[in-house]
Amino acid sequence: MEATLTIIKPDSVAAGNAGNIIAHLEREGFKVTAVKKLTLSQAQARAFYEVHKERPFYDSLVEFMTSGPSMPVALERDNAVKHLRAVMGATNPAEADQGTIRSLYATSIEANAIHGSDSAENAQIELGFFFSRAELLAGRG
Ligand code: GDP
Repeated sequence: MEATLTIIKPDSVAAGNAGNIIAHLEREGFKVTAVKKLTLSQAQARAFYEVHKERPFYDSLVEFMTSGPSMPVALERDNAVKHLRAVMGATNPAEADQGTIRSLYATSIEANAIHGSDSAENAQIELGFFFSRAELLAGRG
């Protein structure tokens, strides 16, 4: 089993798609080990996306991610990181394969429904950003 992190982004939570997205992930074999609902502060969003701080869309991305509640979800599955990236679809929903979460729920390259960790190493860092070790252990089967 491998762990990864998704964030159901503010656009999805506002549109009432959080439940459908979690159901989609469960159908894909992911187990939810922990979930929270929170509104990121500016400092939290800036820190989470620090790797993008030189990109032209950084400020806009931080504004979007702080615009309302989002839901970090800790997931487990065999090959979880790679499988989540496949199920999530391309960053730009116009380029996302049919049936992917972004093709179904994203509205723009920024408001693109969910986050997914891009490596096992980053998954551990990102899970630790939102969840304690105790919370992650408590949610395991
Ligand atoms: P991801 O791994 O597919 O989420 O994509 P990235 O790590 O490259 O980008 C992080 C997030 O920044 C994306 O999920 C989008 O919300 C946002 N983003 C990426 N590219 C753009 C862009 O060109 N314009 C804007 N406004 N937002 C972007």
